[in-house]
Amino acid sequence: MNHEEAALKLGVDPASLTPVPLAPGFAKTWARMQGEPRCSVCGRPSRTSGVIHDPTHGPRWLDRCRECFLATPPTLRRPLSQAITDIREAAAEVGLRAVLYTDEDGRQDELSG
Ligand SMILES: [Zn+2]
Repeated sequence: MNHEEAALKLGVDPASLTPVPLAPGFAKTWARMQGEPRCSVCGRPSRTSGVIHDPTHGPRWLDRCRECFLATPPTLRRPLSQAITDIREAAAEVGLRAVLYTDEDGRQDELSG
């Protein structure tokens, strides 16, 4: 899910989030994460930061602790099977053996190639 969907699922009121004056880019997002702001949901130290784009309140920081992040994992941009194929092909091109673990079956599958 994207950041907006995560905020909705976690019940975060966008009005309560810190405004982001400009599109922050990776460097500013990384700097914010290193400052460990409080989780926007539960107040624990956050582990990841992102921006939601709320139509009423504009862009706002969404900071999530580990538990809140794991409750709202990001959506892969392609199916997992295609991502695994791509990684295997990239590893093969440079002569590396790829050992990949997925959580599709409870983190018990080892996919090697
Ligand atoms: Zn949290």
